[in-house]
Amino acid sequence: MSLPIKDIVLIEKLRKDEVLLDAKEHRLKSPNGVILMACSDGDQFPDVFMHAVNMLKDDGAKIRPHPFAHHGGGMLIDDACTLNTEELPFDKIFLYGIEIAQKMKDPHTVLLYVHAPCGAARLGNISVVETLLHVVRAKKRIKSLWPGLKVICFFHVDYPPCSKHDHGRKRTYFLSREAFERWYAVHTSALPSSSHEGGNGSDPHRPIEFPLPTTSLS
Ligand SMILES: [Zn+2]
Repeated sequence: MSLPIKDIVLIEKLRKDEVLLDAKEHRLKSPNGVILMACSDGDQFPDVFMHAVNMLKDDGAKIRPHPFAHHGGGMLIDDACTLNTEELPFDKIFLYGIEIAQKMKDPHTVLLYVHAPCGAARLGNISVVETLLHVVRAKKRIKSLWPGLKVICFFHVDYPPCSKHDHGRKRTYFLSREAFERWYAVHTSALPSSSHEGGNGSDPHRPIEFPLPTTSLS
């Protein structure tokens, strides 16, 4: 599955509008390790995982990535993401994972990765913009539950081969929540509406139902 030209053009625009920024200079400042959430895609996960590991190394932090992976990655934590169903609420499962990880390892930072092209997003008919919207909402949901946690969104792109790069290239961008929300407010009228908009609890400001299981670690 190759990244469509229309998505390459969109990503280029998001880069120019400083919604997606170079991630290589990003500093985690998370000496106690990180929780990371990413798509299971085996062609991309090693690159995503090493991105997190290298950021920890560059910071002189503990090399302690605490990963959770499932199809779609960080966007699953938005309860409006259509990859979640009543029978399979990955948002709640991942949130539960964050709660337990904090009790066990006490990391102070969550890295939410989404990517393109993503097979899960394609199966769910979720566009690149919707993917970014979901992961931004996911960040806000985590922050509303645990205000002390730092949450950082990243967007991984697997570009197809081109005249400059015979074998394609993989890049990870930092996704600025504020810049995305400004961009989204301006551009959404020109974008296709999301299939879940308006009827599936997509308001990021509504109170969050969070019926976590009560599990003893002993
Ligand atoms: Zn994927």
